[in-house]
Amino acid sequence: MKISPVPKTVLHVPVLNAAPKKASKTDAGYVHRIGTDYRCIDCWKFIAETEQCAEYRVTDSAKVNGTCTEWSFNNPLVMIAGVVVPNGALSPEVTGYTEDPKGTKCIRCVHFDPLGFCERVDEKSIGDDPGEINPNACCRFQKPK
Ligand code: SF4
Ligand code: SF4
Repeated sequence: MKISPVPKTVLHVPVLNAAPKKASKTDAGYVHRIGTDYRCIDCWKFIAETEQCAEYRVTDSAKVNGTCTEWSFNNPLVMIAGVVVPNGALSPEVTGYTEDPKGTKCIRCVHFDPLGFCERVDEKSIGDDPGEINPNACCRFQKPK
């Protein structure tokens, strides 16, 4: 005779009011650089003359007001069209490319709390601005208001 296994009792304990875990600044790519709105015009990978990005494919374009998760602060003039060509490592789709004349920043993000907090990123984690989320910083979770 075949004996059916006794089903185990699984106890589901509801977790009430559990705050979602915030990402670390490292995981979020949190950066705070002075004097920028985190647009292509301030990214060293921007090839202004041909409106291209050194990380994208040659068929992709990037604009002065563009931005993406691979933004990296420095003078884009080092990118000389014809000398530096798009390497095709990435694309606008995989880097979340968008365009906004105002740029990004925490102050323009739906997740930002003016008291110096963010609902997505842990202010106490290691990174720029120890203990706070600065209104002039930015990260890959930025979502325009
Ligand atoms: S598309 Fe991204 S990586 Fe390329 S220049 Fe713009 S911000 Fe920089
Ligand atoms: S407020 Fe927005 S941009 Fe700033 S750290 Fe939070 S998610 Fe990132």
